[in-house]
Parts: sequence; C-alpha cells; structure tokens
Amino acid sequence: MRDWSAFEIGYDVPALPGMALSDVQTPALVVDLDALERNLDRMRTHAAAAGMRLRAHAKSHKSADIAALQIGRGGACGICCQKVSEAEAMVRAGIGDILVTNEVRDPVKLDRLARLAERARIVVCVDDPENVGPLSRAARRHGVTVEALVEIDCGAGRCGIRPGAPAVGLAQAIAAAEGLRFAGLQAYHGPAQHIADPAERAATIAAAADVTARTVSLLWDAGLACDIVGGAGTGSFPFEARSGVYNELQCGSYVFMDADYERIRAEDGGRVGGFENALFVLTSVMSRPRPDRAVCDAGLKALAVDSGLPRVFGREGVRYDGASDEHGVLAIDGGDVAIDERIRLVPGHCDPTCNLHDWFVALRGETVETLWPVTARGKVF
Ligand code: PLP
Ligand code: MN
Repeated sequence: MRDWSAFEIGYDVPALPGMALSDVQTPALVVDLDALERNLDRMRTHAAAAGMRLRAHAKSHKSADIAALQIGRGGACGICCQKVSEAEAMVRAGIGDILVTNEVRDPVKLDRLARLAERARIVVCVDDPENVGPLSRAARRHGVTVEALVEIDCGAGRCGIRPGAPAVGLAQAIAAAEGLRFAGLQAYHGPAQHIADPAERAATIAAAADVTARTVSLLWDAGLACDIVGGAGTGSFPFEARSGVYNELQCGSYVFMDADYERIRAEDGGRVGGFENALFVLTSVMSRPRPDRAVCDAGLKALAVDSGLPRVFGREGVRYDGASDEHGVLAIDGGDVAIDERIRLVPGHCDPTCNLHDWFVALRGETVETLWPVTARGKVF
C-alpha cells in the first residue's frame, strides 16, 4: 500500500483515497472499478471459452497496477508492450512475461531489451533476417534467451514479412541463432479492428487467419512449431478466437472501451465483447456564456481526439462539440449543466488519452478508492 500522507492534492495528485468524486480536481482520468472488473471478467470468459491465452496489451493503459489485475483477476498469461521503455517500466514494476509487439532495430534498444530478459520472459517481433544477428548478439552479451516471433503481414499493411516461404526462412534463421528461441508468429491486423460492419470484419480476419494458417503449416513441415500464434484486438477478437489458428489474444482497449469502439457493432448487434465504459475524463464546467453553450476544463491536453471527440456520459441533451488546448465546448440542446458541475467524458481513443495523465483515479461508485500511476506515461522510446 502506498503511503498517501506525503501526497498533496494539486501539487502531486488530483485526488486522494476516500475523497468524494465531486471533490476530485479536474480534468482527471478516472476509472470505474466495478466496470473495469466486469470487463476483466468478460474477457477472461471469452478467452477461456475459446481455449485461448489472453496476453493483454498494456499500451492502452501503461499502468503496472492494471497489468497486474489483468494477469490476476483477468486471467492473462502476461502482457504486450509496444515500446522497449514501456516494457522496462513494467519489468521494474514486477511484470514477468512480456511480448514487445514491435520490431526493435536500434542497437541500444536491442541491448536494453536483452537486459530485460535477465529479469523476465521477453518475446519480441522480427520481420527481417538482418535483425537476427544483432538481436542474437545482444542476447549473448547478456547471457539470456530472447524469444522471437516472426511478424507476418497478414493484410494489415504495416510491419511484417510476407507470409509463406519468406516467413519460414526468417524463422529458420531465428531458430539457428544462439541466444534466440523461435516462439511462433505475430499476425495482428490493426485496420480490421475498426471496420464497422461485423461481416466485413469477419471476412478480413478470415483472410488473415488463412495466410497465417498456411504459414504455420509450412513451418510445421520445416520442423518448427509455433508456441504462440498471436494477434487480435478488441474489435476483431471473436474472429481470431474462432479461427482455430490463433492461440493468444492481444486485446487492450477491452479493459476501458472508448467512444470509437462503441461505434462498431458485434455480430449480435451489441457492443463488441459486451464491454462497458470503465474509463472517463472527469471535467468541470467553468463557464456558461450562453444558454446553448457551456465550457468545461478538458481539452486537447486532457483528451486524445484523433478518433473523434469524446462522448458525454450519462447526460441527455449535452454534447462535447469542440476541443482547444485547455477548453472543451459543450453544446447544450435540451439538457443543462451547472457551473463547477463534474461531468464524465468517454474519450474517443483510450490509449493516447491515458498517456496525457500522470494518475488514474480509481472510483468505487462515487468514492475514490485508490490512485494508480500511469507507470509508463511518456515511455515512447
Ligand atoms: N496488438 C497489437 C500489435 C496492437 O498494435 C494493438 C493496438 O493497436 C493491439 C494488439 C490491441 O488493440 P485494441 O486496443 O484495439 O484491443
Ligand atoms: Mn488504440
């Protein structure tokens, strides 16, 4: 337990445990613990029903506390990180099993990655045979084994070697390299996550699963087994889960949901995965200049708007209409808000929103239960 007596509201933290929601200093990143726990339970159930491992993506929250909950209550086998610095923050905080779902090429970063393998299981993605030698040398220098997944481009058009023979050649090079262990395939399809139509999303993942299955089979013929066939995000995971090809799900946003993920539908017409809003930016009304307009204190420095403006939560007739650096304009159309009133906003995109804050204020109902640091905030290097 953290000793909160040394923390001063305003200077250090936006709130302290035991405080009422109405006293939280805004804008603040708040988590509804009951909703978060239900999301953890839902994802655990989905993964178990599919007979798959969950390796939750920690880039969404960058919090070692939430990562620990995902591994504990949420049943995850470990976490994913996107950056070496993110992985460093998580290893320091005691997380023991990390997949860096990215290519690492800079020699200093390779060295930092290998050093982490002295303290945790480290898996990394590789999409180029030229990367194998430097990665192997870094592992040998530290006397560790670094596990490597061959990342294939399964249709996403980002990183990844071509599936089939090129991927097999790369896997063989990894398997032959000292200090490395070939651990399987990374086959994540990013653009599929936000395809609105579930049938189109299903077809996109079916095509990705197809090229992935062919590569798994070619690897098997070459004597190489895939321990991990990883991919999937919050939007597409039911399709990877039913593919019979993937065995690890890398969902991240599921733990919070965001306004962008609310817009896409599951096959049953409901929300993807049944996940509910657990993350909010709490904001206060600071000006009421006209009957049809209010201004709140959460703008671009409190909210990422790359995937659209936030949604006002639980209030009819009030809409977030525009963001500038430190202001949010609320259009009042049938609803009402009072000066200094606290309002919950559902961020358009959860991941970059979390990276704007130092603390999660964790609420149980309307009371602050605890605070969690955004452990890997700014760890983008
Ligand atoms: N896996 C990888 C490689 C990703 O890049 C991402 C997100 O971009 C995810 C998993 C998790 O996706 P989501 O937050 O949509 O669940
Ligand atoms: Mn995202």
